[in-house]
Amino acid sequence: MPTQVDTLLHARWVIPVDLERSILEHHSVAINQGKIIAIMPSDQAKQTYQGHQELELDNHALMPGLINAHGHAAMSLFRGLADDLPLMTWLEKHIWPAEGQWVSPDFVRDGTRLAIAEMLQSGTTCFSDMYFYPDVCAEVASEHKVRAQVCCPILDFPTPWASNAEEGIHKAIEVHADFRHNPLINIAFGPHAPYTVSDEPLKKIASYREELQIPVQMHVHETAFEVTEAEKNGPRPIARLEQLGLLGPDFQAVHVTQVNDEDRKILAKYQVNVVHCPESNLKLASGFCPVHELQQAGINVALGTDGAASNNDLDMFGEMQNAAQLAKAVSGNAAALPAYEAIAMATINGARALGIDDVTGSLEIGKAADIIALDLDQLTALPVYNPVSQLVYTRMADKVQHVWVNGEQLVKDKQLTQFDTDQLKQKAREWGAKILAGERND
Ligand SMILES: [Zn+2]
Repeated sequence: MPTQVDTLLHARWVIPVDLERSILEHHSVAINQGKIIAIMPSDQAKQTYQGHQELELDNHALMPGLINAHGHAAMSLFRGLADDLPLMTWLEKHIWPAEGQWVSPDFVRDGTRLAIAEMLQSGTTCFSDMYFYPDVCAEVASEHKVRAQVCCPILDFPTPWASNAEEGIHKAIEVHADFRHNPLINIAFGPHAPYTVSDEPLKKIASYREELQIPVQMHVHETAFEVTEAEKNGPRPIARLEQLGLLGPDFQAVHVTQVNDEDRKILAKYQVNVVHCPESNLKLASGFCPVHELQQAGINVALGTDGAASNNDLDMFGEMQNAAQLAKAVSGNAAALPAYEAIAMATINGARALGIDDVTGSLEIGKAADIIALDLDQLTALPVYNPVSQLVYTRMADKVQHVWVNGEQLVKDKQLTQFDTDQLKQKAREWGAKILAGERND
């Protein structure tokens, strides 16, 4: 008698992103109580298990859900508001004033929902966020059953969420306590950047991080300007963060486009994780993260989209393709960041960066069933010699057909199961009209 399981998926290809970087053909994945309990040849699986839900995915590749390791979800409501500008002009003249005028718990709720919907439809099952009202973001993520790391923003100056860094740190600790038992949500400190947070709050974060085991994510060495400005009065930002005791395996440095030998040694010594955001770096002309060089030094590199205001989408497949191509161009080596490694960056490396690789990031027995199924039987994906090549080098986000998080199906036949799409669109239109008209929403 076959054993009953919740879900049994029979796939043409399974890309588990295991250590061996396998590609399994005609294999099945058995899911029970949210976890992967077996991966085996389909013939054998059909004898062994019977699924309450059972899908024949004859033309599909199954892979781990993607992990977007850096973003600002609610900024989806600013998508396309200001383009074609360098980082500091974009921030100071456009984004910060718009945030001052519009950001509220309602803005964050509606913007985060819009972002989660976009991410799920394009295969992202876990995201890291850094934005105001992180408690609202964590609530929304939890309500929609996606996995998230929510970084509480900490800046020296007043923001819509906290009047200074001190208050930001205290509120972050409270949010951490509120969500500590939520299996899908992790709370992190999000000191914005070396140029927006001074030494004293950074030291406090370092000590609380130790005591409470809260990870830290920060924009670091995003542009050459950031580094040269810092060098006028002291050490380079990475060296300063080392002196302040902030670096460690639970530190996630976002961007890192400026790296000298000393920086690279420090990052490797402390096992710092780097989150590469190629499209945002390209669009803001921030520079190029030397991914190949960092990986050669043994540094874990994950992948993120950054916010939709500087991208302007949250498509991790697009990010993967850009990362693979840029790594080759930047290192002058076409063998740099091969396709399977680009997939690893968007999955297991992301899980490692966020400290959740024991739970997700690969399809392995005992891990959560965070799985996506892509239909490769499409004009833009045929013929298939190697599905991994298709997943990285051809247009893929529109081929995501099914998505499960923790065994729960959140996208079914391309439709979101937990969202009213019309309502989402309506909200996005309303915010767009209001922001465009420059009317304050009281
Ligand atoms: Zn960012």
